[in-house]
Formats: sequence, structure tokens, C-alpha cells
Amino acid sequence: MEIQLHDIRVEVDRKWIRTMRLTVRPPDGRVRLSVPWLVSSATARAFLESKWEWICRSRERVMQGVVVAEKNYADGETHYLFGTPYTLRVIPLTNGRSRTEIADEELRIYCREDATREQRERLLRQLYREQLTAELTEQIGRWLERIGEGEISWRLRLMRSEWGSCNARKRRLVFNEALARVPKECIEYIVVHELSHLAVQNHGPAFKALMSERLPDWPERRKKLKVFT
Ligand SMILES: [Zn+2]
Repeated sequence: MEIQLHDIRVEVDRKWIRTMRLTVRPPDGRVRLSVPWLVSSATARAFLESKWEWICRSRERVMQGVVVAEKNYADGETHYLFGTPYTLRVIPLTNGRSRTEIADEELRIYCREDATREQRERLLRQLYREQLTAELTEQIGRWLERIGEGEISWRLRLMRSEWGSCNARKRRLVFNEALARVPKECIEYIVVHELSHLAVQNHGPAFKALMSERLPDWPERRKKLKVFT
């Protein structure tokens, strides 16, 4: 179903939810409203009218290309996971422990209503770290086997200017936890890049040749990654 709201078309879908949920999605500023089954179309329309200003503001921001995540960790923001935009949902919790979940293209943070920005940020980072750890574990395991490298150790860290680093002597790799935001094919480029530093410690011709042998389309993946920098 659709509702025409002034010059904007809003996609409406009925769901088994308790309250209406409004999202504006990148990259085109598509507006979507999820409505509980028991709520009438007239009520949904009135709700949209009341949110008109918010919709316009959000569409403007989204269409300007908000690739880098917004920084308030507030309900309705867009945050990327593995290159896909998700809507951040901050859901108040009356009892029980804070937790996170991913469902319906939403990153959900359940926390106390009075949670601070820092507490919400910590929860989202925790979700990112869990997701990225699982992805890296799979990718690193697969690549170690494929290139015949022995054991290494690795960990995540929040880094300012690099996606990863490699200490070849200690066989210790570090990956930027911000990699959780980028497409998996770009993560793979970083994984192969850092693993290749075990053999070649600079970025000279030998390194590039090794990269091309292992991951022929690495230049395209690197270009794609730049969008997220
Ligand atoms: Zn390097």
C-alpha cells in the first residue's frame, strides 16, 4: 500500500508491531511506514502529516549521501553494517539487561530510556564487534588455508587512519573495528592485504604482484572501500 503525502509517496506495510515506525532510507530518501494491523489508514496518514517536517529534513540529509554514520546514536539514524544501510532503533527497556539485535533492516538497541549517548554508542559498537569478529574469523580461516600460511593472531581496535596493520615478525594482525560498516568484499581486500604483509612487508611491485595473484580485482575493491573512508 502507498500513501501520497504532498509530493512524496510513502510505502506503507502492515506488520505485527505495536507502534508505527517511520524510516527514510538511503540513497534515494525512500520513505516507509510500518503500521500495526489495527491502526486505520486515516490514523496512519495523520501520523505522517504530524511528521512532515521530520520527513523533509531526513530526506534532505539522506539524499546528500550520509555514508558516514551519524553520531548521536539516536532512534531513526542510518548506520551501515557490511555496506548496507540500516535504521538504528533505540528501544526503551523497563527491565532486563541492555541488548542488541538485527531484524527487519534495523539495528536495534534495547536500553534504559535515560541511557546516555555514550551508552548507546557502546552498545552499537558491541554489536559491530560481534558481527565483524564472526566475519573476520571466517575470512581469515579460509585465506590462511588457501595461501598456506601458518598460525597468526589478530584482534580488533578502533583506529583513526588505517583499516588494518600487520606485525610480520610476531605474526600479529590488527583490524579496524570500523570495517563492520563496509561491504564484505572490501573487508576481504583488507584481510588479503594484511595477510600478504606476512610475506612482503612493503607495498612495492612484489607486494602488488602477490595481491593480484591472490585477489585479481583488488584495485576495484580498494576503490569501493574509499567511499566508506
Ligand atoms: Zn599495507
